[in-house]
Amino acid sequence: MRTIGILTSGGDAPGMNAAIRAVVRSGISSGMRVMGIQRGYNGLINGEIYEMSRSSVSDIIQRGGTILRTARSEEFRTPEGRKKAYNVLKVFGIEGLVVIGGDGSFTGAQKLSQEFDIKTVGIPGTIDNDLAYTDYTIGFDTALNTVLDAINKLRDTSTSHERVSIVEVMGRHCGDIALYAGLAGGAESIIIPEVDYSFDELCKTIIEGKVRGKIHNLIILAEGVGGAEELAKHIEEVTGIETRATILGHIQRGGSPTAFDRILASRLGAKAVEVLLEGKSQRVVGIRNNKIIDVDINEALAMQRENKHDLYDLAKTLSY
Ligand code: ATP
Repeated sequence: MRTIGILTSGGDAPGMNAAIRAVVRSGISSGMRVMGIQRGYNGLINGEIYEMSRSSVSDIIQRGGTILRTARSEEFRTPEGRKKAYNVLKVFGIEGLVVIGGDGSFTGAQKLSQEFDIKTVGIPGTIDNDLAYTDYTIGFDTALNTVLDAINKLRDTSTSHERVSIVEVMGRHCGDIALYAGLAGGAESIIIPEVDYSFDELCKTIIEGKVRGKIHNLIILAEGVGGAEELAKHIEEVTGIETRATILGHIQRGGSPTAFDRILASRLGAKAVEVLLEGKSQRVVGIRNNKIIDVDINEALAMQRENKHDLYDLAKTLSY
């Protein structure tokens, strides 16, 4: 394989730049040309492509976001759109494509290589940690630490005012950001889509906590359950304790990646290049039990996420 392309797609995540850097420099070290494709599949269809050099990825390992920009492309969802994308790849001589993104981006890559002779490999870049085949996705650890920092600050003020604080965090249908942040931040309650919760139980925990002398009460709510403002209103009505909701929003997607995310991104980027050099296609790379792995994309997309009730129960026990 002489020429590969790289793009970032879907929602951005801190560490995507470190992954781009790893792909570009590993690719060049292996004697390949690496073409940067801007704005995801949209940019691919439009031919927004340039050759990358070692120096074009200088000074980016510490930056959040993605220097290649990212986008969502409706056109790429259609067979006609993918045909256009294939034609552009052919014109630029690109034989292998590295796609950094989430499950949607992987599905796009899967279809492209099922329909045309383009080899694809996916690198998991999403703060949600919602891909079952890998223990961690790039960006999750940074987002988690951003949430933790916010929780620490909210704790100070909710303690001073003896309030209940609800913090709504991202993750779409996946509760991992809420679960891990709740455990690391010592939250009294964690509400995630994977575990049913009872409003009455929640209020009971708050009231019992107050009676036992707890001076604040922190609830981490996953956006997949949502409704922080409403919940705050109801809790205040039932318990009589002042309750505030904070929706953290997009700050969770930004910021300089943590060491963990940079190292993960570097390892996964290098692995993606290795996979293409071996002539494999329709693969995704990931980390399992601290080993870098590559998995068939169909298998990876079909996998169900393991339940993390042990962490949930631990957080509950420790916050009592
Ligand atoms: P995130 O987890 O951050 O949302 P994602 O990769 O899952 O990232 P999506 O918006 O689902 O984000 O997908 C990104 C792009 O991938 C879409 O805009 C589209 O171009 C392509 N894509 C998604 N699903 C498909 C599909 N079923 N067929 C073809 N292309 C798809």
